[in-house]
Amino acid sequence: MLNIILFGPPGAGKGTQAAKLVARFNLIHFSTGDMLRAEIKAGTPLGVEAQKIMAKGILVSDEIVIGIIASQIELNAHSNGFIFDGFPRTLAQAVALDELLNSRNMPITATLALDVDTAELTKRILLRGKASGRADDQNEETVKKRVQEYVSKTAPLKDYYKRQGKLHTVNGIGSMDEIFDSLCNEILIIR
Ligand code: AMP
Repeated sequence: MLNIILFGPPGAGKGTQAAKLVARFNLIHFSTGDMLRAEIKAGTPLGVEAQKIMAKGILVSDEIVIGIIASQIELNAHSNGFIFDGFPRTLAQAVALDELLNSRNMPITATLALDVDTAELTKRILLRGKASGRADDQNEETVKKRVQEYVSKTAPLKDYYKRQGKLHTVNGIGSMDEIFDSLCNEILIIR
């Protein structure tokens, strides 16, 4: 079993790299952002609630995302492994994820952190928004808030995984293929 957390700020390219890693290593992709967008599209009560929060660029509650991830882990308990993309984003989420996985004897193998220059992020996301059409990628205030949320609530998780000896930093600057190769090399070393 290979359980990877793909870690990095918004706009670092986690979604693209996660999709490529899933294909290479035959893993299941868990993106809480994608799951929340699916709820919005389906018009569920959870989606209606989440949409308001996501439009502001702030994090939805730990309870909501932990609940979604718990049910997905349950549904896919016999898979080859998982890639977590955009989860965990807070200490409470990281602790909950460890509990969920350790109790099933399938702990996190490694956290791969994409190292990018945070000063460039807002520009990168706004550019991506033009192509993706994602509402929260197009509003500058929302994008800035998302980066702030990352810096204050998510970046500190690096220490959490470092203390567990599971943090592996990968250069997140370069072409999509270069970054993918670095991620694959890191996985081949740790697995
Ligand atoms: P993403 O697609 O990962 O950039 O997520 C888009 C938005 O969904 C974020 O700005 C948050 O509002 C919400 N979101 C996604 N994942 C999480 C999470 N793990 N915890 C809290 N909010 C999340």
